[in-house]
Amino acid sequence: MQIYGFFLKTQYLCDNMTIEELLAYDREHVWHPYTSMTDPLRVYPVARAAGVYIELADGRRLIDGMSSWWSAVHGYNHPALNAAAHAQIDRMAHVMFGGLTHHPAVELAQRLVGLTGLPHVFYSDSGSVAVEVAVKMALQYMQATGHTRRTKLATVAGGYHGDTWHAMSVCDPVGGMHALYAGRLPVQFFAPRPGVPFGGEWTEADFEPMRALVAAHGDEIAAVIIEPVVQGAGGMWFYHPEYLRRLRTLCDEHGILLIADEIATGFWRTGRAFACEWAYITPDIMCVGKALSGGYLSFAATLTSERVADGISSAAPHVFMHGPTFMGNPLACAVACASLELLAAPELPARIAQIESMLRQLLAPAADFAGVADVRVFGAIGVIEMREPVDVGRFQERCVEAGVWIRPFGRLVYIMPPYIITDDELRTLCTAMVQLVGET
Ligand code: PMP
Repeated sequence: MQIYGFFLKTQYLCDNMTIEELLAYDREHVWHPYTSMTDPLRVYPVARAAGVYIELADGRRLIDGMSSWWSAVHGYNHPALNAAAHAQIDRMAHVMFGGLTHHPAVELAQRLVGLTGLPHVFYSDSGSVAVEVAVKMALQYMQATGHTRRTKLATVAGGYHGDTWHAMSVCDPVGGMHALYAGRLPVQFFAPRPGVPFGGEWTEADFEPMRALVAAHGDEIAAVIIEPVVQGAGGMWFYHPEYLRRLRTLCDEHGILLIADEIATGFWRTGRAFACEWAYITPDIMCVGKALSGGYLSFAATLTSERVADGISSAAPHVFMHGPTFMGNPLACAVACASLELLAAPELPARIAQIESMLRQLLAPAADFAGVADVRVFGAIGVIEMREPVDVGRFQERCVEAGVWIRPFGRLVYIMPPYIITDDELRTLCTAMVQLVGET
């Protein structure tokens, strides 16, 4: 340890590295998301970020189209979030949550309970863990209430719920990691992806496969988990809210819990506080994350109804068996309270509506390109679906040259910009996106 410490101090301290050395070390030693360690995709060194701009180490400024994967909804370096973080860190960065509590955790619970109508809050460290917690809650609820045969989950194809074990088991069976972990992942029930698009004409036939699945296996199913209205990383697909309404009723008829994964959709991304609101339903369990802490800290929460909380507590061991080290982290809670305070601004829904109408207008020209299969917009989410997979490395190089930050996956080029983006910045972002897609 001593020797490594010595090396760190004298030779490898990042501040003394040139950018080339930093990138070389990163390439050799640091794993990035969904990449090879031996042949990684290019990464771009960031010096700072403020507002809607990410500034690279060479001084180039990029308009951020990604909100750092749905999280930085207020942009970067926001004065209110910075102030909350500073104030809290001077009090305490963290204390264990076992046997202790604090103002930020209680205030955040009040805010979340008020927003969702779900009275019980379980904090965790990331969206994937919030999903694991939701699944454990559903399974423990069924065990505690005597439904011991209900050990499975059901969901729809095209979903994404995170990279932990149970979360992976309910991701899309083809596009997800099922093949990679075949024989090891829990096997769950899948209905086809909801087919009727948001804004399309509802047809009852769309729900029939889910109805048939539950008719056949209902007594084995503890919960149905679903991303409400917007399927994110599984395909950026917007489906008809009627599907969700039918699902709520079906779950109630069969004694199945409904888990809404609002990790990507929550906090006004779709124009309403939660995507469930498009269907006027309340789930039994809801997962939130990402925008919750305004993109500052990894943080998430799982909320439950009274029934679920009471059920879990009703039988031995009478406790919910989960308790991460950083549960209820005060710093994250304090920043999250500040984030929710900003999101409570009365003008926000109108701003999201304005972003939506600009996205519709500015991305529409892409529909004329031969390589484009579909252009769709919902809330502050704009998607251009290509006919062929996009070369991510090459596309990003051109984005950086054009002064924008967009990270496609598969055939999907999409943006969900920070809500603070100005009309001019949004115009620049969309114009570049359409132009780059046209050249692809
Ligand atoms: N659920 C959904 C709907 C998501 O979009 C994500 C993240 N993309 C997750 C769960 C997992 O969250 P995290 O990356 O914070 O673990």
